[in-house]
Amino acid sequence: MPKFHRFNVDNHEVIVLSDGKTAFPGPFLMIGVEEHEQHEACRKHGLDHEAVESNMNCVLLSTGGRKILFDTGAGSTMPGCGELMASLDQAGISPGEIDQVMHTHLHLDHLGSNVDESGRPMFPNARYCIGQTEWDFWSDEETLAGLERAEFWKLPDFEPGMAATVRSNVLAIRDHVDVIPDDGQPAPGITAIPAFGHTPGHLAFRVDLGSEQLYITGDLVLSPFHVDHSDWFPAVDLDPAQAVASRAKVFNEAAANGALVSGYHLPFPGIGRVSAGDTGWYWLDEFTLEEVTR
Ligand SMILES: [Zn+2]
Repeated sequence: MPKFHRFNVDNHEVIVLSDGKTAFPGPFLMIGVEEHEQHEACRKHGLDHEAVESNMNCVLLSTGGRKILFDTGAGSTMPGCGELMASLDQAGISPGEIDQVMHTHLHLDHLGSNVDESGRPMFPNARYCIGQTEWDFWSDEETLAGLERAEFWKLPDFEPGMAATVRSNVLAIRDHVDVIPDDGQPAPGITAIPAFGHTPGHLAFRVDLGSEQLYITGDLVLSPFHVDHSDWFPAVDLDPAQAVASRAKVFNEAAANGALVSGYHLPFPGIGRVSAGDTGWYWLDEFTLEEVTR
């Protein structure tokens, strides 16, 4: 079901657009964690251990007359997804209004609506922004060949699909791509933060909303139990130690700043704040901003 969640901070508008949700088995998301701990973590958050819900929360920022979309959902690459464009329509925005698409990384569940059915850019007036390190990895033919052999994540069910989606949804529209510095400012008020590990060049973004800051955290956490447990990681982290360190860097900065945090795969709308906890962070999702959910 298409849906969105909107709030305003000063002159900035933030809309979380749902692309839908899929599910992953608990053990896939909690590598090396004792089974009873996995079950306890799922119970705590009301999640089904056999099929842990994974949302696709795309953030649309309207600021200074520009519209910037962070990631484009899983589209047709995953069951239960592909609702981004209907959610955008429901929010009253047309694809031609989007000025920039910022990619946290190039996994298939973040590229799903980059192109339309004919393979043309879904957002015809947008520049698609990709970090330098991430671009260097995925635009390399050797990488794509390695993915087809499932050499990186050792996930034969996913890697050939990753390669195919990068070809069709990124490389085929490379004229529309802007490669950005990993720690650059791709737009006024938006700062990229290198948060490598999940993929070689995964980025987070810090968004200046005036009286608030918002951290777009991509796949630094895939589920609420990754917020609770700073050292738990999923099978899709290419370099788990680096991913865990990146998560700590960004979440500690967000906690210290009292900032808003967006989690792409967290329960919709995936907006909250974090504070330091015993084994990770506490997720606070009650705050006083005027909000509309539909
Ligand atoms: Zn993801």
